[in-house]
Amino acid sequence: MSASLSLSMSSARTQCPECAHPDALALDDILVSSTHDYFRCKDCGTWWIIQKGSDGPATVIGRSRPEQDKP
Ligand SMILES: [Zn+2]
Repeated sequence: MSASLSLSMSSARTQCPECAHPDALALDDILVSSTHDYFRCKDCGTWWIIQKGSDGPATVIGRSRPEQDKP
């Protein structure tokens, strides 16, 4: 038995690497990759990837505003 899965509360798969918001959105249904999983922060809009089969490290690839606060 492995205990390595017990740290999911602070996993890069569930927490934003930029603002530490705990509500990450998994995008594996939208962005399909054979090597990485894609995530987006619901709070700050940061996008990041994590290598499949790993809990980190997160690699930030960009940011999109969740709501357009400027025209
Ligand atoms: Zn964030």
